[in-house]
Amino acid sequence: MKKKIVIGNWKLNGNKKTIKENLLKIINSNINTKKCKISIAPPIPYLYLSKYILKNNKNIKLTSQNIDKNIKGAFTGEISGEMLKDINVKYVIIGHSERRKYHLEKNKIILKKLISSIKTKLTPILCIGEKKKNYIQKKSKQICKKQIKFLKNKKIKNIIKKIIIAYEPIWAIGTGISADINHINDIYNTIKNYIIKKTNITKKNLKIIYGGSVNKTNILEIIQKTKIDGFLIGSSSLIPNEFIEIINIIINKI
Ligand code: PEP
Repeated sequence: MKKKIVIGNWKLNGNKKTIKENLLKIINSNINTKKCKISIAPPIPYLYLSKYILKNNKNIKLTSQNIDKNIKGAFTGEISGEMLKDINVKYVIIGHSERRKYHLEKNKIILKKLISSIKTKLTPILCIGEKKKNYIQKKSKQICKKQIKFLKNKKIKNIIKKIIIAYEPIWAIGTGISADINHINDIYNTIKNYIIKKTNITKKNLKIIYGGSVNKTNILEIIQKTKIDGFLIGSSSLIPNEFIEIINIIINKI
């Protein structure tokens, strides 16, 4: 049985005090990590503090919310994969819809960031997902395929098993309304079949996680009725008790 992965994306929230308190609550909840991989993505200035709070805790890994395409040099304000690796970061979120929207990140830069993260031995979490209007027009599959088309690129094709795909319908993010089970399954199968056909990955090595208003109320149904390999959780991960409850529901059902 593949371990499910659960990542809490804290986005642009928190301060020294709350980051410390929230991390300690998660550490002290003694979650059974035999069935689940857990990671937290605090705001980048708090990654180093988080590393210290986590100390030798091997069960909770750090995720960066961003990375630059460059590894070093004259790139003021940027975040290098080598530096992230140096402070024990394991995963990096790439292509999140908020970065696509507010920072105008397109597939070209997303591909470069993916390559940069793999070069520096970080595990990229590639976010894809359709807008509400695409969903209404029944174009979700088309949009998702377009967003992963570059995985056919020679540089990526053979290392695809190092990438985690996060399917996050934009209309479900931060709205409190998750996508329904049929839709999640439909897109999960579409992405899976597409990637298997276009690259040389096997089914077992491909990880697709879901994000979009996952909470303690809807997690049970999603875990029971889908084959999703894990979850990217925003709002609910900012409430440590809810985040812990979600993880425990996942653990008890797999
Ligand atoms: C996200 O932004 O990646 C996300 C899944 O947020 P939320 O859980 O709040 O929808």
